Amino acid sequence: MTHAYPTKVLYIDLTKKSFYIAERPEIFARSLGGTGAAIKLLQETCPVGVAPCAPEAPIVFSVGPLTGLFPLASKTVAMFKSPLTGNLGESHAGGRAAQAIRMAGFGAIVITGASDLPVCVAIHGSKVYFRDATSLWGMRSLFTAGSIIRAAEPGAGVRSIMRIGRGGENLVSFGSVTTETYRHFGRLGLGAVFGSKKIKAVIVSGERSILVEDKKKYRDLYDHIFKAAVESPAMKKYHDLGTAGNVKTMQALGAVPTRNLREGRFEHADSLSGEALAKGYLGRRLACAHCPVACIHIAAVREPYENEPYFYKTTMVGYDWELIYALGTVLGIGDPEGMLLLIDAVEKAGLDAISTGVCLAWATEAMERGLISEKETNGLHLAWGDWRTYLTAVEHLVTLANDFYRTLARGSAYAASIYGGAEFALSFGGNEMPGYPAGPASYLGFLLGTRHSHLDNAGYSLDQTLLKEGKRLSAPHIVDELIKEEMWRQVLTSLCICLFARGIYTPEVVRETLAVAGYEFSDEDIRAIGREIYREKYAFKIAHGFNLDTLRPPDRIYDMPTANGPFDRAFIEEGLRYAKERITAIVS
Ligand code: SF4
Repeated sequence: MTHAYPTKVLYIDLTKKSFYIAERPEIFARSLGGTGAAIKLLQETCPVGVAPCAPEAPIVFSVGPLTGLFPLASKTVAMFKSPLTGNLGESHAGGRAAQAIRMAGFGAIVITGASDLPVCVAIHGSKVYFRDATSLWGMRSLFTAGSIIRAAEPGAGVRSIMRIGRGGENLVSFGSVTTETYRHFGRLGLGAVFGSKKIKAVIVSGERSILVEDKKKYRDLYDHIFKAAVESPAMKKYHDLGTAGNVKTMQALGAVPTRNLREGRFEHADSLSGEALAKGYLGRRLACAHCPVACIHIAAVREPYENEPYFYKTTMVGYDWELIYALGTVLGIGDPEGMLLLIDAVEKAGLDAISTGVCLAWATEAMERGLISEKETNGLHLAWGDWRTYLTAVEHLVTLANDFYRTLARGSAYAASIYGGAEFALSFGGNEMPGYPAGPASYLGFLLGTRHSHLDNAGYSLDQTLLKEGKRLSAPHIVDELIKEEMWRQVLTSLCICLFARGIYTPEVVRETLAVAGYEFSDEDIRAIGREIYREKYAFKIAHGFNLDTLRPPDRIYDMPTANGPFDRAFIEEGLRYAKERITAIVS
């Protein structure tokens, strides 16, 4: 049995191949867990000025007090110094990792140092093993490496296997970490930090249970949340089509980023819609552990063998709106099968799909404009919609085939700083743009979010609400709304709640679930925790070089009309000036 709130942190030193477990109840008492615990542990262990891939740079995984207790508290938070932006790296993944970490008895895991040889770090309960992973290093597909680890490690059914592919091994700045095959710590380069420490995989399993004092209250609340998750129309849409259901909505809004955001509507959007993919390809749905929604959609792609008309190779490929955008519309790919095969290649290589797609879109436009040629691309002629050539480009990118691909592997902003074309490199704060450009609130949200993700503050959702209500807001008013939303989301992500369930975990439900877990907080206490976490994250960013004065969107956003009407450079700049005042006041 373990207490309802986590207290233990597992510290692993890869250089010494040693570990110890520390009681840190104060971390979880003051900041809940997840994002809140992770930023405290990151601040404690990440020296200012350290290079993201230096041995001293830490990796922090954390879970929350609701993990293992309530449905949809399914995420693990990873924090690190980002090789892509050089400041805060934060990525959240579903799968089974959160349950495994909690059931192994930990609220967080901190990994520092670097191994001399490739290693799998296997955490089974309170024991840690360092397994030689030399034979897994360099494997073409991370799926194969995953299968081998599955066969060799104990804990089937309750374990998580977080592993990297060649992207992470080769220190591509947007290398990802894959867990349970179809979930990812995708954004901001955790895979490269794994690679720098020679970690092929972190495996975690545990079989503890959690002590709850008030069982009746727990049961009632559990049933309420479970019922809302399986019966609400908001969650049903995630189960039915997943976020691929957004294709039609975004197309209607004119917010489908097409051919490097030169257009907002894609002529092949219907073929890539959630409805079309479900009809033509859906093979199965999956769920993260402790989630009754099952929003993960897996396509079955059948490719006939040459000269064998009745024999097929079947590949199972996960898809969602972000993937459809990044490896479909933004590259002008309208052939669903081509897009799915490109997704599969990016998955096997262990790259973040959004950064990969946006980097290739920048490269395609750079080639059209003569900034680069086939000399740079290793003989490839990059052209919109040509997924076969993009497949080869992904291979060149993950193997760092030449100077150009080595440059591109550091992100689109860096590539543009060398070859030109910053005005059409879809990079916000150094991170490639997510697929939700619905208007000025979206763009301000990407710029100002602590991880430069649409999930930080949901600017796209504010754009859509304003559109529905026929309202316009001033730039400062938008910034105020974004900061307010981001502060509240720090509470949800400290509880490791899947943000798809944000409508279920209202402030009242959050307070009640925390009471079951042993915390007596008022609504104001909880909001104060959110504010403090936001402050700490921004303080970390600024200490590690993030500069609000140099924050600019790419000029491309001013060329594309949005559903919310026109906005200009002066509008965005006014928002950024105001944000600087507010954030500086919050941090100081
Ligand atoms: S809704 Fe989807 S992403 Fe969220 S926890 Fe459930 S399966 Fe995972």
